[in-house]
Amino acid sequence: MGLNESIDKMMGLATGSRDPQALNAVMEVQRQLIQIQSENKTLRERIEELENEKILSNELEYKNNAYYRKGEENKPYCKRCYDVDKKLVTLDWTIDLYSSTYTFRCPECENTYGSGIEHHQDTHIEF
Ligand SMILES: [Zn+2]
Repeated sequence: MGLNESIDKMMGLATGSRDPQALNAVMEVQRQLIQIQSENKTLRERIEELENEKILSNELEYKNNAYYRKGEENKPYCKRCYDVDKKLVTLDWTIDLYSSTYTFRCPECENTYGSGIEHHQDTHIEF
């Protein structure tokens, strides 16, 4: 018999006995059980969250001022957003004037990072 069924049975007995003290005691146990079940659910969810974070952090590599997931060479993620908020935010590849390498720009926190990756494009303006 599960805990909920046991309590239902106790409730039935307490109701049948017409003893208000017994009934109150059973209701108190029931109230506490609901609270414990809710706490249990919250803890399970938190454990799952932490396990997912752990799997993810094992999967991430840091290079060129960004994080990458294994097998995703061209998809850099923002260092700040992951370190601070545990969020993977894909960085935009941008090319600044008079630059020879790509600049990564985060659409979320708006930080920019020098990637050190050459773009081989002429970014000089001629007048
Ligand atoms: Zn960011």
